Amino acid sequence: MGDPPPPADTIHVDERPTAVDAIERFDTSDVQPVIVPPLTELLGHVTPAKDSAFAELPARVSTRKGLFLRTEAHEAFMQMHDAAEKDGVILTALSATRPFSHQASIWNRKWKRPQAMGMAPLERARDILKYSSMPGTSRHHWGTDVDIHSLEPSDFDAGEGAKVVAWLRSHAGRFGFVEVYTEDDARPGYQPEAWHWSYLPLSGPFLSAINDANEKGTLPPLEGFEGAFVADSLYVLRDYVNGINATLGK
Ligand SMILES: [Zn+2]
Repeated sequence: MGDPPPPADTIHVDERPTAVDAIERFDTSDVQPVIVPPLTELLGHVTPAKDSAFAELPARVSTRKGLFLRTEAHEAFMQMHDAAEKDGVILTALSATRPFSHQASIWNRKWKRPQAMGMAPLERARDILKYSSMPGTSRHHWGTDVDIHSLEPSDFDAGEGAKVVAWLRSHAGRFGFVEVYTEDDARPGYQPEAWHWSYLPLSGPFLSAINDANEKGTLPPLEGFEGAFVADSLYVLRDYVNGINATLGK
């Protein structure tokens, strides 16, 4: 007697998990309806330490105090962290929610660094945008996104970092987390960031709210930092905020 045919949903071992598989594996049955915060909050005008919608990550999962996520994302991150730990993989959070003022200080510091002085404003902004968001446009404003393990791309090529990213690509979807800045030549915007993971049950609706507001002309202008006037010329919303993993939708 021959082997029975494999079930239709058999996943072949040579197929690497994709973000789509990951999203499909996420169990949405106990997710509460999403309340999208006011646009000003999504543009970074939040104080996580004084806002009950946020919770601080404990020391055992992060490198420093003061790392906050929205409570749903926090809970999911903790579950993901503990599941990884059981598999011998440590997911250390390096950065989480960053308010506008924090992002503006990063941006303004890079804007004024000596090596940028010879650059025209547009070129200067484009150079910073390889890795850093323009204030008001960072997914880190939303309280849904977290940087894990290292901010150095080469750290994910081998050793501990390779283990971390392989684990995340296989299992993070089960906890609602997705890779945002994937290695895809067709993706505009930021360089690949193996460390940046987003809690999609919240960040998906948040991005839609920003895009809807932009279409309606109700998105507040980007202002309050060096070189803000180049934002429109760089299509920051189209190419950076929406320059994400193609399977996450627009
Ligand atoms: Zn990040």
